[in-house]
Amino acid sequence: MTAAVRPPPEARDEALSWRSRLQDLWQTLGLVWRASPRHSLIYALTTLLGSALPAANLYVGKLLLDEIAQAAQGRVTYQALLALLGVQVALGVLGSLLSTVGTASQQLLGDSLQHSVSRRILDKSSELSVEAFENAETYDRLQQAYREVGSRPLGVATQLVGLAGAAVTLASVGALMARLGFWVLPLVILASVPGVIVSNRFGVEGYRMLRRQTHDARVQNYLGSLLTSDTLVKEVRLFGFEPYLLRRWREYYLGFRVQLEALVRRRAGWGFLAALSSALLIALASALILRRAAAGEISVGDFSVFVLGIAQVQNTVSGLLNGVSGIYQNLLYMRNLFSFLELPTRDLDAGEPWSGPIETIEFRAVGFRYPLTDRDVLRGVSFTVRRGEALALVGENGAGKTTLVKLLTMLFEPSSGTILLNGQDAARFSPRSVQREMSIIFQDFGQYQMSARENVALAEVTRLDDRPGVQGAVDRAGAAFVDDLPGGLEAPLGRLFTGGRQLSGGQWQRLALARLYFRRASVLVFDEPTAALDARAESETIQALREETRDRITLLISHRFSTVRLADTIVVLEGGVIVESGSHAELIAQRGKYAALYDLQAKGYLAEPPAPVSRPRVQDEP
Ligand code: ADP
Repeated sequence: MTAAVRPPPEARDEALSWRSRLQDLWQTLGLVWRASPRHSLIYALTTLLGSALPAANLYVGKLLLDEIAQAAQGRVTYQALLALLGVQVALGVLGSLLSTVGTASQQLLGDSLQHSVSRRILDKSSELSVEAFENAETYDRLQQAYREVGSRPLGVATQLVGLAGAAVTLASVGALMARLGFWVLPLVILASVPGVIVSNRFGVEGYRMLRRQTHDARVQNYLGSLLTSDTLVKEVRLFGFEPYLLRRWREYYLGFRVQLEALVRRRAGWGFLAALSSALLIALASALILRRAAAGEISVGDFSVFVLGIAQVQNTVSGLLNGVSGIYQNLLYMRNLFSFLELPTRDLDAGEPWSGPIETIEFRAVGFRYPLTDRDVLRGVSFTVRRGEALALVGENGAGKTTLVKLLTMLFEPSSGTILLNGQDAARFSPRSVQREMSIIFQDFGQYQMSARENVALAEVTRLDDRPGVQGAVDRAGAAFVDDLPGGLEAPLGRLFTGGRQLSGGQWQRLALARLYFRRASVLVFDEPTAALDARAESETIQALREETRDRITLLISHRFSTVRLADTIVVLEGGVIVESGSHAELIAQRGKYAALYDLQAKGYLAEPPAPVSRPRVQDEP
């Protein structure tokens, strides 16, 4: 399915049947119940009991008023009045007790629920394939699910209990009011309806509007983050593109603003009409009841039931209808959450466990196409690399190098062809067990706002406290600056948290390099390792790389030929296919694509002609 034929999200919401809504409702209740059965039960019971109190209060109030009226004629004792007062006070105390217990259990339930749903989202996120994160729609869904996790599931539960409570209140108060005349209750109920319909309707519209804006809001947030980023501030200032970013940020805001204004204006107009019609209906009901009062058909107490009952019924009806619309809106969110939780995952532990070092990696006619796209980004890629060898991937941007690395590291599965590890089909093995034999430094490696030790040892969390191991990796990566930090390996890094120390780009990269070395892996992958390193660092890295190459498989992506030429085999990718492969000397002798690229770069910094070299050697760049 391509983006063009995909229906917009609101159309898909519409398409969902009531049945699936009910299923979602059921599933949500299950979620709430499992989060805390005890608090769910206490909350539901206290709310339902409390919902019967308004009618009881109205009735006792009516009795009291009628008795007072009788007392005026000397027909009632003080004790009888006191007894009724006692009942009223007892009802008041019971009411506050129920609401105190109910509120406390709701708060605790909300907390448990937020924790359990967040936990499910995080569990799910850690099971999702890397591909899912690269898909904008999935990513939006994840972000939205996580953002609103605190309010939505509890919202559905409280609204549903509230609905049941409102039904209890309405039935009991309604029974009292119905005694005043059969038309009273319908008129009062009718008066509450327009307001609720308006707020319901615009609530849904508001939600849809926000949902339509999700993508643009993400872009706007991103633009804002560029202006507030510590790492980008230099580039932004120097090129001076703040006004451009600000202008685009504001354009998005203005777009949202236009939509909001239209919505607010329509909501205000309809809201006023609703209030007007409601006032007229209440006036009509009052006039009718006053006529019966004038005829002496109802008591003072009855009249108090009517007057106080109006507010009660209106509140309850609007609570009831708002509850329905609230549940509807929250269920839209819950659907989003459930569809996120239902996304297919890739079980990284599925398959036979791999053990022992990887001795050979063979790509056999491997092809790959990103999901939802219609172009193969890799086609018929075949090569073999053995233990002790280094293989370099060369090619222009977009040639498919990073994709190839994602396949090799089992982050992605090939769309066609086979990857063989030690001669066996890699698909047979659990990705996680194979990945344990691999270590990598990505071009966009992580800068973890944690201690230096953690930054390194995250590569193998079971050895998080292996300080000598971390120190060894730090030394090998040439990250000696760590020793000079206050607190050494334990120094908190990064600017995000207080006390953290910001490192330079090159220093962060050395830590990433230390992370790569820390894992005891038989395959090492360097994805443009030298991109942020100075010349000395680069030559040290290359030395280390040559050392690593002896008993391992090394895969290297680089634009620098001084690094690439050290590899035993160089594979040149162009448009997703291998156009040349061989050693540096062979490829230079071929005078093909590689030689041309090499000449081009060599001209920039080499005094000597880039003639075929028999032995790889380290070439310093200026
Ligand atoms: P390189 O690392 O050589 O620069 P990549 O492997 O990153 O190249 O990209 C190869 C091709 O795949 C490019 O045309 C790129 O646009 C495309 N591509 C990369 N990532 C994705 C993705 N997540 N979805 C769709 N296409 C992608």
